[in-house]
Amino acid sequence: MMNLTQVQRRIAQVQRQLLSLGPLHPGSISEQYNVCGKAGCRCKDPKKPQKHGPYYQLSYTWRGKSSTRFLRPGQVEPMRQKVANYKWLRELINEWVSLGVELERAERARAKERDGD
Ligand SMILES: [Zn+2]
Repeated sequence: MMNLTQVQRRIAQVQRQLLSLGPLHPGSISEQYNVCGKAGCRCKDPKKPQKHGPYYQLSYTWRGKSSTRFLRPGQVEPMRQKVANYKWLRELINEWVSLGVELERAERARAKERDGD
């Protein structure tokens, strides 16, 4: 278990990390492979079909509204970074809340120690 000082230090660290977060976006990116309508296309080869793709799709739900859209090739990497930043934001928030609970516990423990002296 962390003592009061350790908890306070970790909270300050989490706050700094939150401030350093770059652009963010909720959701996840998936790869899609498609079959086209062209006759005799490689995507319909009976022996070794090679589907078209990958196409990258971003899906997310925000404030109850779901959304899906395709990403242009140049948008994939920046969006991956944004999605990773969003995930990190959520982890940092969860950690801060946990530390808040821990801080309360550590403060009570310290007060008890003091009263006991
Ligand atoms: Zn095709």
